Amino acid sequence: MLKCHVKNCTDPDKQYPLRFKGVKIEQIEYEPNEEFLVRMLPRVDWNALVKTASDLNIALPSVVPEDPANNQEFLQKLHTVIMETHITEGSMVCDGCSHEYKITKGIANMLLAEHEI
Ligand SMILES: [Zn+2]
Repeated sequence: MLKCHVKNCTDPDKQYPLRFKGVKIEQIEYEPNEEFLVRMLPRVDWNALVKTASDLNIALPSVVPEDPANNQEFLQKLHTVIMETHITEGSMVCDGCSHEYKITKGIANMLLAEHEI
């Protein structure tokens, strides 16, 4: 979940989170680490994560459920989104300025052209 950093792109509602476009997804299964997921939750920008997950066709609840530590179904989904879903190719697009950040071999190119800095 990255933020657009084009110089004149300053609308906080639009520059973050970037939207995924035309992405290739690879699912890699890992053993869920529930303790880690629960500990990480308070630091997650939930609204942004829900938006990003829906770009990837994964539905997350719009609010974090009560007592997430004992909600297996919820933790499994969170695990899938955060740990198991890898974007290999495609791009991330800014709603504010339409800048496209290319993703190649799982790495996002966050470099900007001269005129965008
Ligand atoms: Zn932008």
